[in-house]
Amino acid sequence: MNKVNYAKELDKKIEEYGKEGLVPKLLLHACCAPCSSYCLEYLREYFDVTVFFYNPNITESSEYHKRVEEEKRLIKEYNAQVEAGAFEGMNSTGKARKIEIIEGHYDPREFLDISKGLEDCPEGGERCRKCFELRLRESARVAKENGFDLMTTTLTISPLKNADILNEVGKEAAGKAGIEFLPSDFKKKNGYKRSIELSHKFRLYRQDYCGCAFSKAERMNAQAANGTL
Ligand code: SF4
Repeated sequence: MNKVNYAKELDKKIEEYGKEGLVPKLLLHACCAPCSSYCLEYLREYFDVTVFFYNPNITESSEYHKRVEEEKRLIKEYNAQVEAGAFEGMNSTGKARKIEIIEGHYDPREFLDISKGLEDCPEGGERCRKCFELRLRESARVAKENGFDLMTTTLTISPLKNADILNEVGKEAAGKAGIEFLPSDFKKKNGYKRSIELSHKFRLYRQDYCGCAFSKAERMNAQAANGTL
């Protein structure tokens, strides 16, 4: 079976909207500012983007607040660029739109409930699939309730996350809510590399683990094993 190139699928969609002169309303589920940086730089040229920050997988409340505040700061930086007419990007259509944000509710118990029995799974395993389902289901619900045309997620920018699974889970969640899922694989076309450049440029806080307590423990064990703890 041929592997789907979700980055190409996204570009095809963008081309279709462009031909029809449409600027769809997109709800972008975002996990953190560094991952959002490239996704927003790219998407704001073609969509009317609202970020949805819903991440109950972040076990520690202080870490959650740090990440959501960085997300808001990044959006402010981008909106200031648009106001000043001084934005840049790799696509450069010459247009960019301001970005809104909706902060979802934060209750880490929602994540801990769905990860019961999967605590020892390594990152990338079954627990992560459940984690994607939880976050994208809520994103789809909010997108539908608030009249968005489409939804997608920044999660596909991570080289540690499987784009096939994310697109499958996202499509299913969106379909059940009665909304369209925008395919993506943001790490492609140098997206991941650009997110690192942008993170440096805006001095974004870059965490060194995914988010849940289990991923933090996994990272610390790896650091202890290679003597970098
Ligand atoms: S490692 Fe990341 S994606 Fe996987 S369960 Fe933890 S927070 Fe979710």
